[in-house]
Amino acid sequence: MGFRPFIYNLARDIGLRGSVSNTSEGVKVKIQGSSAQHAEFDQRLGLEAPPLSTIISIDAEDIPLSDDTEFIIIPSAGQAAVSTLIAPDVALCEDCRQELFDPGDRRFHYPFINCTNCGPRYTIIENIPYDRPFTSMKDFPLCQDCKTEYEDPEDRRFHAQPNACPVCGPQIWLTDASGMRQDVDDPILKTVQLLTEGKILAIKGLGGFHLAVDAGNETAVATLRIAKGRAEKPFALMIRDLEMAHQIVQLDPAEEQALSSIQAPILLASIKDLTDLAPNIAPGNDRLGIMLPYTPLHHLLLNDTLSVLVMTSANFSEEPICIDNDEALERLSGMADYFLLHDRDIYLRSDDSVVTEMAGEIRPIRRSRGSAPRPIFLKNKGPAILAVGGELKNTIALSKDDQVFLSQHIGDLENLEAYEFFQMTMEHIKRIFEIEPELIVHDLHPEYLATKWAREQDLPLLGVQHHHAHLAACMLENGLDEPVIGIIMDGTGFGTDGTIWGGEFLIGDLHGFQRKAFFEPMPLPGGEAAIRAPWRIGASYLHHSYGVELPAIPALLNKDLTPIIQMIEQGLNSPLTSSCGRLFDAVAALSGGRQEIRYEAQAAIEFMQAAHNELGLDFTNFDLLKHENHHAISISHIMHELVRRINSGKSITALSQWFHHSLIKTFVHIAELLRNDTGIAKLVLSGGVFQNQLLFEGLLQVLERDQFEVYTHGQVPSNDGGLALGQIAIGRGFLSF
Ligand code: ZN
Ligand code: ZN
Ligand code: FE
Repeated sequence: MGFRPFIYNLARDIGLRGSVSNTSEGVKVKIQGSSAQHAEFDQRLGLEAPPLSTIISIDAEDIPLSDDTEFIIIPSAGQAAVSTLIAPDVALCEDCRQELFDPGDRRFHYPFINCTNCGPRYTIIENIPYDRPFTSMKDFPLCQDCKTEYEDPEDRRFHAQPNACPVCGPQIWLTDASGMRQDVDDPILKTVQLLTEGKILAIKGLGGFHLAVDAGNETAVATLRIAKGRAEKPFALMIRDLEMAHQIVQLDPAEEQALSSIQAPILLASIKDLTDLAPNIAPGNDRLGIMLPYTPLHHLLLNDTLSVLVMTSANFSEEPICIDNDEALERLSGMADYFLLHDRDIYLRSDDSVVTEMAGEIRPIRRSRGSAPRPIFLKNKGPAILAVGGELKNTIALSKDDQVFLSQHIGDLENLEAYEFFQMTMEHIKRIFEIEPELIVHDLHPEYLATKWAREQDLPLLGVQHHHAHLAACMLENGLDEPVIGIIMDGTGFGTDGTIWGGEFLIGDLHGFQRKAFFEPMPLPGGEAAIRAPWRIGASYLHHSYGVELPAIPALLNKDLTPIIQMIEQGLNSPLTSSCGRLFDAVAALSGGRQEIRYEAQAAIEFMQAAHNELGLDFTNFDLLKHENHHAISISHIMHELVRRINSGKSITALSQWFHHSLIKTFVHIAELLRNDTGIAKLVLSGGVFQNQLLFEGLLQVLERDQFEVYTHGQVPSNDGGLALGQIAIGRGFLSF
């Protein structure tokens, strides 16, 4: 990642003598000069280090003077080169951007311009060592000009493996949906024209294809929704620049910084003004995902005519993103009108990352392109472990020494493509980081594809409870070993008693946990089908609380409740769950919110938004039912209080505020009980429900005011995308016994 040339140039600039080399422990620098020169070196080392590098620690020692006369780079040999970290794929840097738009530059308008500080990495590496012949650039021998840059330690493109130019590098072209190459002078200009006409374009990018349409064209957006099988879920936008972004969403300085960072994620931000954009981009939503152009191709597309594009992963529904030209033409031909292709192969799929700001911090919702495979650090070195993650939003993780490599977003392991992607990613990370795991950690759910895969392997296995893994992920991120209180609010996770958990108060560490409080388990009539129709969950929770005669509330009028109640009473396909996500579904539906959902958590998201970021004054401390070793939060009490408010004519806004406020009060009360019992004041918040900003921020504030030491997620998602990290942590705990 340009670290040796950086040291080389820095040392020369200061006038130091010595050398720099890669070793298996890191970069080794020998410098000799005056103490003022040493001091300058120390200072500038931290300030000017290249953007793709991270200095983890510096060990310094005095050595005898030598007779070095200049500063040199010692070429690395064998093992040392192998251990070099592999960087994520990052956004175009400012130097390259200027060259891209400089008519006098030899890479003027060249869509694959890059340098040591920017461009593709992880997605083009086939094998190690990270050298051009082992990347998808192997088919593009460097021309003389590029070679000169590549070999010059003082050049910005010294050892930049993807270095290329119009003479020697990858090219783009345009085809129609049948794959027929279009005879046009400038494929990018033509693409812009087609987009302006309302066409759907499949555009090959960094980690895969996007489907793009003009964000101002309602018909094009509607067509894309049908093509993609995505009825209502908001589409992400790519916006020309920050200035333009400010017109569309609310941005504070931290959000601005995240958007323009080298990771260039999609940022979820509050909508400010959609006047010039199609209304069906984010129906019924007050937040929108936006990103800035991050490849040179994006910068060229969003240059003059177009300022905002819908840019969504090219796939059908939850299948993996497309990466290969032929694959794209086959899988996307029913969706896209035209294809903007190129001949630089993508070895590994990598979706866009997604972040959002909560409680003043930028937090990942999907950690993928730009962040993977940057390691997360452990406190100690230890054995290599493979963690296979969960089912939805799957990621996998491999540990080596004191590092964990968490994969890019793999997605929902519910189809063959995703399952193949899962296996390929695992093999890829094992290969490029040279990891041979001695233990596989998996979720306890016997039906998860990842669990089934793990059980077919010839390695020792460790099954880990889902919410214990959430707790451990948050502990690992925050460097905790000691027992903590975990408030884990989630959708679905297999419990040790065979029921579905998801609203859990745990006391635990990396070695084990106790389940101290949870929502009273309720039947989920129809299982998964109930999740798509939250009113069924509402009916079930009411049935538990009122018996066969359900109270007459508007949301249940004209609904056929009989089959649901029969299912519950006969115990047919009605698994029990303590899930907080399902409670949200039930309360949202009964309050008059979403009755049927078109994307995951839609009912809960819209219900939260109905509160308009306020908690109001009305709240209820939900009853706790005391059992021998735990407390159950009474669903019956929640339902009676809810129905009373619905029948007194409260609006959905008031109901949402009351419910969020009540959850916060109840959670804090339980946390206090547990602290009194155990003396533990350290507390972690994890699980997918904590993507609910109103709940998360409200709870965090009260807990901190109440003298809890609260730890939250900042490096990995609180949803199942962070699960594999927790599995690694527990695996380490297990092996260290
Ligand atoms: Zn660059
Ligand atoms: Zn060249
Ligand atoms: Fe989960």
